[in-house]
Amino acid sequence: MPLGKTRDKVITGLARASGRLHRYTRVRIAVAVVFTLAIAALPAFDVLRLDLWGGHHHYLGQQQGLVETAKRFAFPFLGINLAILLASRFFGRYLCGFVCPQGSVARLGEWLRFRAKTRRDRLVGVATMVSICAVLSVVSFSFWVDWRVFRDGGALSIALSALSLLAMVAGFYFLAQRVGLGFCRHWCPSGVYFALLGHETCNGIEFAHPRGCTDCGACDKACPMDLKPRAMSLGAYRPGDGFYPDGLSNFSLCIRCGDCVSVCERVHARGEEPTALRMGPLPEHARGGAASEHAEAPR
Ligand code: SF4
Ligand code: SF4
Repeated sequence: MPLGKTRDKVITGLARASGRLHRYTRVRIAVAVVFTLAIAALPAFDVLRLDLWGGHHHYLGQQQGLVETAKRFAFPFLGINLAILLASRFFGRYLCGFVCPQGSVARLGEWLRFRAKTRRDRLVGVATMVSICAVLSVVSFSFWVDWRVFRDGGALSIALSALSLLAMVAGFYFLAQRVGLGFCRHWCPSGVYFALLGHETCNGIEFAHPRGCTDCGACDKACPMDLKPRAMSLGAYRPGDGFYPDGLSNFSLCIRCGDCVSVCERVHARGEEPTALRMGPLPEHARGGAASEHAEAPR
């Protein structure tokens, strides 16, 4: 579900006005490239690859049975999940804001749509998104099926593999273009898990310089999670949406995307006061915790 028109207006304005990419966007691009290359290297170098077609399962370069591969991968898999759990517990949902490929591709789709002024721009945008979804599909497919199926497989295997690839491209495209960041706000199961873990975090958004706030409201409109960053920083509460249960601190709903900070920095671009919002480690008094229904919104 696309997000509201108010976010569209704010982000469209930013996308068209900005001469250079914001530092958060540059970090997101770097993380997306490194992450995609690292994930793609796993099946390409037989570090981890299953083969539902020919049974050529690989782990750390050695071919072995499916059960043996799953058993040997279980330990590193648990280790990775423990690291994610600890990172989310103490630092909040930076994974959602900066690492999740769904979020990064949805943001790219937004940016291309919002920058488009002509029909040609829109066509280039669609072609770019289809290409990126095709790359993601190829990487995902490589984990599950040996590409030799297209050379040595029977007609049925080839047809099923081609259909799976096409379905993946269509699925990624639909998620990125039609559901977009609404998925993060309403339905992402990983997001719910991270939100529960990050109920009390020591990193996030702080309304650090209220005197610098012009009350333009751009931060509230830009937030893809429909939070009010200034009010949230002061302990305000909104109930859960979609799969998210009620009662969670809004600090745990915040995906640490930094959109509120980047629009605030634009507002302050020529001002003398320090930027009102900041993202990073929080002082004790500004940390998330039990949700307060009674906190007042600023101004
Ligand atoms: S915190 Fe920044 S973006 Fe938000 S209302 Fe104040 S000046 Fe505008
Ligand atoms: S409060 Fe700011 S950092 Fe958090 S989700 Fe909203 S826009 Fe992103």
